[in-house]
Amino acid sequence: MALVRRTPDGADGGGARRDLSPREAACAVAGRLADRGHVAYFAGGCVRDALLKLEPADYDIATSATPEEIRAVFRSSRGVGESFGVNLIRLGGRTIEVATFRSEGEYTDGRRPSHVTFSSAEADARRRDFSINGLFEDPRTGKVIDFVGGQADLAAGLLRAIDDPDRRMQEDRLRTLRAARFAARFSLKVDPVTEAAVVKYAPDLAGVSRERVGVEFRRMMDHPSRSVAAELIERWGLDAGCLGESNSTGPLVRLSGVGEVTPFFAALAAWRLDRAGRTPPAGSGAWHRALMLSNRERDDFTSTLESVAAIDASWDASTVSARKRLAAQSTFAASLAIAAAANPDRGREVRAEVESLEGSHGGVAPDPFVTGHDLIAMGAVPGPLFKELLDSLYDAQLEGQVVTREEAHIRARSRLADVKN
Ligand code: ATP
Ligand code: MG
Repeated sequence: MALVRRTPDGADGGGARRDLSPREAACAVAGRLADRGHVAYFAGGCVRDALLKLEPADYDIATSATPEEIRAVFRSSRGVGESFGVNLIRLGGRTIEVATFRSEGEYTDGRRPSHVTFSSAEADARRRDFSINGLFEDPRTGKVIDFVGGQADLAAGLLRAIDDPDRRMQEDRLRTLRAARFAARFSLKVDPVTEAAVVKYAPDLAGVSRERVGVEFRRMMDHPSRSVAAELIERWGLDAGCLGESNSTGPLVRLSGVGEVTPFFAALAAWRLDRAGRTPPAGSGAWHRALMLSNRERDDFTSTLESVAAIDASWDASTVSARKRLAAQSTFAASLAIAAAANPDRGREVRAEVESLEGSHGGVAPDPFVTGHDLIAMGAVPGPLFKELLDSLYDAQLEGQVVTREEAHIRARSRLADVKN
């Protein structure tokens, strides 16, 4: 258990105490605001998750206290998006977001409000996107405060935009993508008026910042419900706005079969292959830019596409060394899961074979008997031939044609002599 330093107000910075759970820390923050006479509620996702008997990822607090009043209570408070009244409080080893009740002004550009006004709890509930996200809980009594019919919708399994769905989607087009995320994650039916508004504003998602889209998209792909979200994205025509292309061809067998825990790059590769139908896609296409992938993500994404193609098309014709080289790649496990999702028999075959390769001649990725340093010590000069020689020596090792370091070094010297003559 980590020890944290705290100031006398209980925020981190002085004497040592144990870390609090996220809920304990949020209760402590809300309690301290309430002690000073402010209204302080748990807000949004954490209330929804608790009602669904899920463990909330984090706790947000909405309060009647102004940013100044929040700072007077917590010396550790750090303003983020000051104009929105949002503060971060460090307490018990946790960071809790505390935001003043606010309503939002006109959305002039479909992306962000022109200004915000500090206001009542009810107005703060009504500025939120969906009724299930518009709930408050008074942590002192456990009572849910519901201005937007969120509890009834949650009980009915319904995703519904608060107030006028058309206006809410028009105000902030990211909400169209969030609709897919929440409907998928909680297996919700979508209110028809809300769905019509999502479809209407779907083409405008392209105007939303790539960063915001990327964050929502990753949250969607990191969850086991990713293929349901992807189906909704395609059905509602949101794919052009988030992937930079629109060409779905049918069922998402790979994306739905990759397994609950799947790295982001693998989910992307599975979905891209599902969308490509019979033509294997070359490279990451427009997705790289559309989703602002890091170089690492893009490399893993393309390497997965290539490995799946190799498993599907050329595994049987490959040499033992080529199979071992493929199986040694960091993206191989994910690639095999994707190939197996589309063709389970083939997946089983390849998996069994990789197991046997792991037990043969030092496994799939043994340390090479001959390194570049060894070749240089033997008088070789780095260049294309040098690389070729190293590769062929390693292949011989993977194939079991040479089984000791000595043998490999003899072979290396004789090859070098051949080249020189
Ligand atoms: P998660 O558990 O995935 O974090 P969440 O409901 O907490 O879900 P967040 O994106 O963290 O979702 O946002 C917190 C809360 O802020 C939401 O529950 C919702 O009330 C409100 N909110 C967030 N984004 C928007 C938006 N674009 N428009 C309106 N309200 C929003
Ligand atoms: Mg959240």
